[in-house]
Amino acid sequence: AAALPRRPIRELPDELVSQIAAGEVVERPASVVRELVDNALDAGASQINVKLMAGGVRSIVVEDDGIGIASAELPLALRRHATSKIGSLDDLEAVSTMGFRGEALAAIASVADVSLLSRTASAPHALRLDARSGELGPAARAVGTSVEVRELFFNTPARRKFLKSDSTELAHALEAVRRHALARPDVGFAVWHEGKLVAQWRPARLDQRIRDVLGEEFLEGSRPVEHAAGPLTIQGRTALPELSRARADQQYVFVNGRYVRDRLIAHGVRSAYEDVLHGQRQPAYVLFATIVPELVDVNVHPTKIEVRFRDGRAVHQAVHRAVEGALAVSRAGEVAQAPA
Ligand code: ADP
Ligand code: MG
Repeated sequence: AAALPRRPIRELPDELVSQIAAGEVVERPASVVRELVDNALDAGASQINVKLMAGGVRSIVVEDDGIGIASAELPLALRRHATSKIGSLDDLEAVSTMGFRGEALAAIASVADVSLLSRTASAPHALRLDARSGELGPAARAVGTSVEVRELFFNTPARRKFLKSDSTELAHALEAVRRHALARPDVGFAVWHEGKLVAQWRPARLDQRIRDVLGEEFLEGSRPVEHAAGPLTIQGRTALPELSRARADQQYVFVNGRYVRDRLIAHGVRSAYEDVLHGQRQPAYVLFATIVPELVDVNVHPTKIEVRFRDGRAVHQAVHRAVEGALAVSRAGEVAQAPA
């Protein structure tokens, strides 16, 4: 230890701090898509278009018809910890937007070429800001925002090496949009790859959206879930055992509209299938948990894919009962239908 030279403590330059933060938030093109679509939804968009080139590695464009960014704030949108969504700890505890960390655009701009094109309802025209050059100028666009992200990880070759084939990256990006599409059936989504339309979901009611995203088979082979337990409600659809899968690839859980991975909820669901699913078979489900914001902490993980519940046991129990109830009704329903 005595031989180790002491190095001075230094504050890291802003750019490097952002790149380190980007490591947590931006893993691949799909992460960029997720963040940009989150922003579009927070802006009240009713139609969101995602355009990808080379699986999103070469470029990702997300266009929305939301409220836009005020001209004067365009440079601010790219700054770290700059957000219009919260301003205090109280806001954070009751947060209802997808974003609140003010980190995504800054993180993305530190590992890719980003430009913002936006127009608010009161602006005479749109403005375009190129993040790298800082160039700001007038542009043509209807009210809303387009964010363009080019050459992801161009300046971090080590990260770029972790990217998979274009088709794999495209599949991940599509999955990211699929999750948003399930969470927001009222919003239209369209995805293009290399100029070709590869997915399109028009605004619909939830059941129709579930059919559009997961297919007729899932809708027909699943039962509605509807359960209220105090400050918590569980809704959605859960598939009959016949639709169980070898992989856990059709398990969608949303907490207050946000897609999450939660072991507690997954376990609660699985336990409701205990008697009817054998071995490693995985149930398929789409569940929406709605809970008073104060009872769930969404600020646990930089990508917010994990949440922490104040009362995990109550959530587990509610999920178990909700799914058990849905499956039991379906069995009783089939018996009851027989004489009719
Ligand atoms: P956060 O979403 O956590 O606030 P971001 O870095 O994703 O952080 O975005 C920073 C800010 O830029 C947002 O708070 C919002 O004001 C603005 N913004 C980003 N994308 C959009 C968009 N598509 N439409 C309108 N405003 C946007
Ligand atoms: Mg955001």
